[in-house]
Amino acid sequence: MQFSDFNLKKEILKRLEEIGFEKPSLVQEKAIPVILQGRDVVAQAQTGTGKTAAFGLPILSKMQKGEKALVITPTRELAIQVSEEIFRFGKYLGVHTATVYGGSSYARQIKHIASSEFIVATPGRLLDLLKSGRIDIAPKYVILDEADEMLDMGFLDDIKEIFKFVPNDRQTLLFSATMPNPIKELAKTILKNPEFITITKKQVTNENIKEYFYVIDENERKDALIRLLDYKNPSKSIVFCRTKKDVDDIADFLSGAGFDAKGLHGDMDQRRREDVIKGFKNDKIEILVATDVAARGLDVNNVTHVFNYHLPLDPESYVHRIGRTGRAGKEGMAISLVTPHEFKALSRIQKIAKLTLKEIPSIEDIKNSEITKIIDKISSIDPSEKAIEIVEKLQNEYDLLTIATKFAHMLFSKEVDGKKRIGKSIKEATKLIQRSKNQNNDRRRGNRYSRNKNSRRKRR
Ligand code: AMP
Repeated sequence: MQFSDFNLKKEILKRLEEIGFEKPSLVQEKAIPVILQGRDVVAQAQTGTGKTAAFGLPILSKMQKGEKALVITPTRELAIQVSEEIFRFGKYLGVHTATVYGGSSYARQIKHIASSEFIVATPGRLLDLLKSGRIDIAPKYVILDEADEMLDMGFLDDIKEIFKFVPNDRQTLLFSATMPNPIKELAKTILKNPEFITITKKQVTNENIKEYFYVIDENERKDALIRLLDYKNPSKSIVFCRTKKDVDDIADFLSGAGFDAKGLHGDMDQRRREDVIKGFKNDKIEILVATDVAARGLDVNNVTHVFNYHLPLDPESYVHRIGRTGRAGKEGMAISLVTPHEFKALSRIQKIAKLTLKEIPSIEDIKNSEITKIIDKISSIDPSEKAIEIVEKLQNEYDLLTIATKFAHMLFSKEVDGKKRIGKSIKEATKLIQRSKNQNNDRRRGNRYSRNKNSRRKRR
């Protein structure tokens, strides 16, 4: 399925093309058509699944002149993120967004609210503005984002109260990672005959595929990829990227670094695509750089390695990607590069797949492993007559040690470029992952505490 299969405005499709979104994520595939029809929706989807686009794109497409949309998010960070994303999608529609949260100027926010089509707000500040009569909005579309987080943070009553200020004639969407009872109850009172969207997860494992992940910083992606290619030396591999832009960029980068790499994505004409696929099948191309869409239906055996340059949005896409290797009883390896920003996506994938944390080898590690391989190779050789003849001739000029050293030099030609160390050590990575888990928990506890403090202050 493609974005052009939906009845989205041409300004949106053009923009998606430009941003490089090629294929709708699962939640987008399910939610966009239903939202376009005007139905209310309850969707079970976490951050990182592409949920902002899942509601943002259809609403931007439907929105008539003079209409407004209100998005309610639990935190200021999420409000800013959603606001930026909507603004990005709406470039050719000239859409304005207002971001509304506590601790920042009232006057400026009130002005922005009046002149914006999309208002993205945290519950506390929004209710404040509504109750004091400082703003009067009549949104045609209301979206609750991360509803379960809002519940955890003690915002449920605020949310219920906010709905007293919005018109009944509206389309309402509720997004939540989990569906605890109070959220189900809330859904019953604020949504009309909603369509429920859940993305089911099933446990999938393939014994033949070894799955590794490496924790790096964003600016290390390319170095990490090259280093791992140098180390693993795959004979046939696919590097998966999220967007068409990334595909072009990485394919150029790898070719520039001397690899037999070619990109594959939907913007290439049919002939060119077929050439690339044929080249990959016939072992003329070692590395195929592709988006999920382009690789769909690609039937190639003997793929030894799958690289996730970025983690995919859905765990299902992960499973789909790595299933390109380890086919027909052969061994395969799936390698994912993960930045701390992607830890949430990682933990979703880890619910259905078993990934082992690894360290990116240093230049020294690669050299050592090369030496071991050479020693193994030499031990297994049964010398031919010609070889004996060569050594006998050389012996007229050199002693045996010198001859042996010269041969070893011929075998060890491997040059490894790049930084000595790339990415995090296992210890560092484990610490970072744990810290991110703790932060998520703390964020909930901390915010709940500060909400209680606020309500105490108000009562006084
Ligand atoms: P979200 O779940 O809305 O926070 O989105 C997670 C990230 O995925 C954001 O950086 C989006 O820009 C990106 N994204 C969302 N949908 C797609 C898509 N269909 N293709 C590629 N990237 C996407």
